[in-house]
Amino acid sequence: MIGAIVEAIRLAVTRIPDDVVSALKKAYEREENGVARFNLENILRAIEIGKAEAIPVCQDTGTLTFFVKAGLDSPFLGEIERAIVEATRLATKEIPLRPNAVDVLTGKNSGDNTGRGVPVIHWELTEGDEIEIAVLPKGGGSENCSALAMLTPGEGWEGVKRFVVERVKACGGRPCPPVVLGIGVGGGADYSLLLAKKALLRRVGERNPDERIAEIEGELLEEINALGIGPMGMGGRTTALDVKIEVAHRHPASFPVGLIVQCWANRRAFLRIKPDGRVDIWQ
Ligand code: SF4
Repeated sequence: MIGAIVEAIRLAVTRIPDDVVSALKKAYEREENGVARFNLENILRAIEIGKAEAIPVCQDTGTLTFFVKAGLDSPFLGEIERAIVEATRLATKEIPLRPNAVDVLTGKNSGDNTGRGVPVIHWELTEGDEIEIAVLPKGGGSENCSALAMLTPGEGWEGVKRFVVERVKACGGRPCPPVVLGIGVGGGADYSLLLAKKALLRRVGERNPDERIAEIEGELLEEINALGIGPMGMGGRTTALDVKIEVAHRHPASFPVGLIVQCWANRRAFLRIKPDGRVDIWQ
């Protein structure tokens, strides 16, 4: 199982999913600004090299975040956490990954991407005997632009749009655009951010099944691209490839909005562990 998790991590950091590549290609085709075209060309070239040579597409291989859907009848339930931590250590050495886990008091790097609370593992218990794991390597530059707003209910969805657009504008080229925005609305402060990060697992171009939310996703995408920040912040038509919104019910007095900013290196991979030990890995 450890080997399979290492392979999923390798896939995630060396290959950008097809939906993201095709969105980047479309952005290149519709771009008229020469610098923006040059930046997109370089991004697409880095993706090609990563794929051809099986090396990470960006030097920042991020903080590894795992979303585990754990079937209560899986015979591997008790082993998963240890396997994820061990796979993270091995992947750091073998792929290799940049060691990105630093002690908050001493500043000392653990050297293997593990430490207190990392890799980050989010658990969801489900019925059944399979375990599905999503791997999301999250770059630091884009994570630094993530934010939380505790709006008043009166500010509502107009407030959500204002907060997101202002935040993207203030960050400019820092998150390595074109970005994908994960937005969580509702729940509490913590849950809105978790929803926002989880939203990044959805394919680029896939809208929320709720038409009302889907419409807001589209409107926000348009507003953000009208900012003209462009690829790598040097101007152009595409600042964001997509906007993903997930929602939960909220407290009557609160309107929490979690925003997670993802860079062009919008990496992800999935694996499913069957009860007989067979594994599927995909993007
Ligand atoms: S923000 Fe993304 S693209 Fe930029 S350096 Fe970090 S991981 Fe790489």
